[in-house]
Amino acid sequence: MTVNVAIDGPAGAGKSTVAKAAAAKLGYIYVDTGALYRAVGLNALNHGIDTTDAAAVEESLKGITVELAFVDSQQQVLLNGENVSSLIRTPEASMAASNVSAIPAVRAFLFDLQRDIAKANDCIMDGRDIGTVVLPDAKVKIFLTAAPEVRAKRRYDELIAKGSNVEYKDVLEELIQRDYNDSHRETAPLKPAEDSVYLDNGGLDLEASVEKVIEIIKEKIQ
Ligand code: C5P
Repeated sequence: MTVNVAIDGPAGAGKSTVAKAAAAKLGYIYVDTGALYRAVGLNALNHGIDTTDAAAVEESLKGITVELAFVDSQQQVLLNGENVSSLIRTPEASMAASNVSAIPAVRAFLFDLQRDIAKANDCIMDGRDIGTVVLPDAKVKIFLTAAPEVRAKRRYDELIAKGSNVEYKDVLEELIQRDYNDSHRETAPLKPAEDSVYLDNGGLDLEASVEKVIEIIKEKIQ
């Protein structure tokens, strides 16, 4: 039996940074499932498909491959064999991911891939529906969140550090829209699993968040 840790929460809660650091400390792999939805969204954008058009997006899945590879424990996402790990990190790809992720056929398309990785590896997997749908039997489930303004500021700082020319108010607006989409969709909406630990890390820095997550994991797997 592998140890599976599910971390769900809204955009910008720091899931990926916290999960990656905690996984490295525990010797688990870190799986970022958002990257899978981003790859499907990018594929649709590349083909000029309206990402809210469920039938067209479903059609776009035919014949594509989305895979995860782990190079030095770092996750890479491959779309039709091409490494798109950087290309999926734009605001356009974020919104495309949020749109396509509401489509049941897209969720079904990515389901087995996530399940199989968790079956084969001790992992921390982050996303929106990991504790509720993908890994309902995960030993540890954490719902990581913070106020929208705190999350938007983190996202904004990250994008600015990468050299993007964005406005804070646009980042906040996009994040609120994505939160709304993600928690109001019919299939696998974002919500805390009943047996999850709720962690608001608004007042915690990265190090303290990682420590807290590790503490929760250790407590649960003992
Ligand atoms: O986590 P990240 O921001 O990269 O996710 C991008 C989008 O993919 C989210 O806004 C959400 O709509 C979708 N997603 C999802 N289920 C997951 C992970 C991500 O619906 N498990």
